[in-house]
Amino acid sequence: MKGVVFLGERRLEIRDFPDPTPGPGEVVLEMKASGMCGSDLKFYRASASGGAASLGLGGKGGPVIAGHEPCGVVVAIGPGVPENQAWMGMRAMQHHYRGCGVCPHCSTGWMQLCVEGVAEVYGVTGNGGHAKYLKCPARTLVELPEELSFDAGAAISCGTGTAWGALQRLQLQGDHTIAVFGQGPVGLSATLLAAEMGARVIALDTSDERLQRAKEFGADELINPKNTNNVVQAIRELTHGRGAHASLDASSSPQARVQAVQCVRTWGKACFVGEGDTVTLDVSNDLLRRQVTLIGSWTFSSVGQAECARYVADREIDLDRLFTHRWKLDQAEEAYGIFDKQTEGKGVIHPS
Ligand SMILES: [Zn+2]
Ligand SMILES: [Zn+2]
Repeated sequence: MKGVVFLGERRLEIRDFPDPTPGPGEVVLEMKASGMCGSDLKFYRASASGGAASLGLGGKGGPVIAGHEPCGVVVAIGPGVPENQAWMGMRAMQHHYRGCGVCPHCSTGWMQLCVEGVAEVYGVTGNGGHAKYLKCPARTLVELPEELSFDAGAAISCGTGTAWGALQRLQLQGDHTIAVFGQGPVGLSATLLAAEMGARVIALDTSDERLQRAKEFGADELINPKNTNNVVQAIRELTHGRGAHASLDASSSPQARVQAVQCVRTWGKACFVGEGDTVTLDVSNDLLRRQVTLIGSWTFSSVGQAECARYVADREIDLDRLFTHRWKLDQAEEAYGIFDKQTEGKGVIHPS
């Protein structure tokens, strides 16, 4: 089978890999949709040796198939897989991490927090979804609700699920105002879900195109930091001088992170989900004096992934419109070239 490999420095290659055979406890998914996530740009743009290492994800080195938003159908099952865990033809998303499976974090669905260290991040340190087939432990599958498309399942498998996880951590309520920094796939999903939950959303992005899309997805107020002297002041003015109840940074920009902390009201909560880079805070003034809670949120558990999918299905939220581009596997180069500009919506690859 063909698989997409990131070479670093904005180069990628389509290489030949053997079709996988499932071992004990494993299944093979035929990929129907493999999403392109904002964090893939970190690996796509990385120096030739190591986006994964720079994000603290380890890895054995060597080229792996990219794509960490896998969604498809079970087409092969290895020995010892319980019938209620996976079955032929099962429509499934994949929780894209492998851990030991038995430690306190793994057994509660947080494989990425495994006490042994995460053994594999699919699409980053292990073969991911940008290929016709993906082999993984059956326990990493999350059933896709019948109502949802494979594309929607791919979105939930990282970008939208990550937004969901962050909003859960923030305990967002319908009477809250939230400022969402960055309207890429994660930020836009946060805007969409927060608006659906009844919250008032202030969306921020340096691309007017992305802001316009945020408005279509339910944002009440739009701020382009490029045209705004004082972003924190602008958010205060939109909240009667008090600041937002909550903020979420999906931009990874050090400056936006500071603003995300400063723009919340006293007792407010700020949540960082964007990967990489740093932040410098004035601890006393930005955090302590205002009783601010600062949360770091890394994706979601397999249980949370199932809950997010159920929520999206029950509320009939149209995630398919997150995608502005749908690609075949052999168009990967063009697909990432366009995604790299960070003005468009989300892309998805349909490997089969
Ligand atoms: Zn574990
Ligand atoms: Zn991701």
